[in-house]
Order: sequence, then structure tokens, then C-alpha cells
Amino acid sequence: MTTKHFEIIIIGSGPAGYTAAIYAARANLAPLLIQGAMPGGQLTTTTEVENYPGFVDGILGPDLMLEMENQAKRFGCTFQTTLVEKVDLLQRPYKIITAEETFTADALIIATGANPRYLDLPNEKSLIGFGVSTCATCDGAFFREQTIAVVGGGDSACEEALFLTRFAKKVYLIHRRDQLRASKIMQDRVFKNPKIEMIWNSGVSELIGEKPTGLQKVILTSTLDNSKRELELTGIFMAIGHVPNSQLFQNQLDLDSDGYIITAPDSTKTTVAGVFACGDVRDKVYRQAITAAGSGCMAAIEAERYLESL
Ligand code: NAP
Repeated sequence: MTTKHFEIIIIGSGPAGYTAAIYAARANLAPLLIQGAMPGGQLTTTTEVENYPGFVDGILGPDLMLEMENQAKRFGCTFQTTLVEKVDLLQRPYKIITAEETFTADALIIATGANPRYLDLPNEKSLIGFGVSTCATCDGAFFREQTIAVVGGGDSACEEALFLTRFAKKVYLIHRRDQLRASKIMQDRVFKNPKIEMIWNSGVSELIGEKPTGLQKVILTSTLDNSKRELELTGIFMAIGHVPNSQLFQNQLDLDSDGYIITAPDSTKTTVAGVFACGDVRDKVYRQAITAAGSGCMAAIEAERYLESL
């Protein structure tokens, strides 16, 4: 197995990772960016991005990520589309091990993002692709003229529900409280859409169905009085938040109780000097493409200053 050394390695290819790469590459640090299994990250599973500044008519998520990748390439960033299997941050230079190669770096920028959260019901994972999904953009078209549901009350749940009305006959939005967490504009769009019906104060307690026929119905449990009822559905989309991709760094960096990497106030510095974290892996508050990109810029500037100080 070969070992290649880089001044800066960036792990993760969402807006945080690519922005860090653009800044580090423009600073002549010739970074390596390890993209993971899904180059472009979560935005590659969305459609129109309407709130990223600079695109008056919006831009498709995958297109935005391709632009960022090409921008980093233009300044000399190297890419590897592979998964990091292990890191060693206990000694310098830091070791980053993939299935194929071992890399070393003087500074490391972690931008590994977050993954969708599931309800943790017994057969939930086995029904993925057979009625259970976390990505309306990816799977919505499979549910033409069917009755389906979205679980959650945030912006993601509203966005998914609205998108799914393009295909489905009816979309239930199942939320555990009597009020949505989503922004007012998204709530208004949901409430105005005749294909969406709200199911308030309810949780999904059982998924009924099996491979290969798929989901047939769900059992809803009231969060007010525990009463149960059945709902016939062929598809259910989980939109209940995310889990940070920080498992690689457990026991090497300080994580909070939800697994997010802890960074110093107003900084991307982690508890190990020379290791910086940006984007959704350290942000449970804003989680926007633009805030991820902003923190990627901070991480690159901080890493550059750290390298100068060595
Ligand atoms: P979120 O805002 O954290 O909302 C998660 C939702 O899932 C909440 O309504 C929560 O219920 C519910 N939930 C969590 N765990 C649950 C469980 N075990 N069972 C049932 N329900 C559960 O997550 P998000 O919607 O993914 O949004 C994340 C961030 O991205 C937010 O800042 C959001 O504004 C942003 N975002 C913006 C856009 C946009 O601007 N177009 C689109 C998507 C996301 P409670 O409300 O009861 O806690």
C-alpha cells in the first residue's frame, strides 16, 4: 500500500468540503479532497435550490455541486472518489486510510456532513426501496397516482411533501405535534396544496408490508392518547432530521451528545490542533448550503494559518 503526503486533506464533498477546497487550492496548498461514495453530498438528492445567493432563478442541486467541484478543480485540487475507512489523529502527520491507499496530511478538514435519520422501526431498513425512502427527488416518480406519506414537521418534510404532489394522488404529512417547525413560507405552500392532508399529533409505530410486494399500510399512534389507527399507504418518506457522519472520529475528537463534532466558538478548530470541522458534521442549527459553504471557507483559512505557524 502506498502513502502519499498532502499539506491539506479535505474529507467530504458537499458545499463545505468544496468551498474549503476552492480556498485551499487558491492559496496554492494543492489539497486532496476525498469525496466519499456520493460526490456532491446531500444536495445531489434535491431539485431546485432557491436560496443559494447568486442564482436569481434557482439552480438544481446536482448542478450547483458540479459547479463547485469544477471551481475547485480549476485551482488545482486533486479528487479521490473513495471512502475513508480509518483516521489516526493521534500522531502527526495525520493518517487518512482508504480501501486503496494511505494518505498523510499536515492539516485535515472534516466536511463529512450528515445522513437522514430513520424512525428505527423493526422492518424500516429492509423496506428501503420497497416503500420506505428518505429522498423524494430520487424515488418520487415510483409513486405515480398512489397514496403516500411524509413523516416530519420541518422544512425538509414540507419540501418533500410538496415535491411528491407532482406524482402522488395524495400525500399525508404526519407530524408528532400540532404545529409545524417549518418556515412560514413552506407551511403556507403545504396548507394551500389540495393534495396534502395533515395528520397532527401522530407517530408511525408500525410499517406493514414486506419485500418484494412492499409497504401496504402503517399503524399510527396518537401522541395525545396513544390510540392507534391504520393508514393504507404504498410509500412513506422519512424527513425527520439527520445524523452527523462523525463515527470515524469517535475517541479522537470531542463530539457532543448527538455526535456532532465540537468546534471552538466562532471557529472550525476541533479539539486536535490542525484538524478542522465544517458543514453539517458540526452544525445542528443552520444546516444550509450557504452556511456549510461559509464554514468551509473558515476552515480553509484557519488551516492555512495553522500551516504557516508550523
Ligand atoms: P428539522 O428542522 O430538524 O425537522 C425535523 C422534524 O422531524 C421536526 O419537525 C421533528 O419534530 C421531526 N422529528 C424528529 N425526530 C422525530 C422522530 N423520531 N419521530 C417523528 N418526528 C421526528 O430537520 P429538517 O426539516 O431536515 O431541516 C434541517 C435544516 O435544514 C433546518 O434548518 C431547515 O430550515 C433547513 N432546510 C431548509 C430548506 C429550505 O429552506 N428550502 C429545506 C430543507 C431544510 P418536532 O418539530 O416535534 O421536533
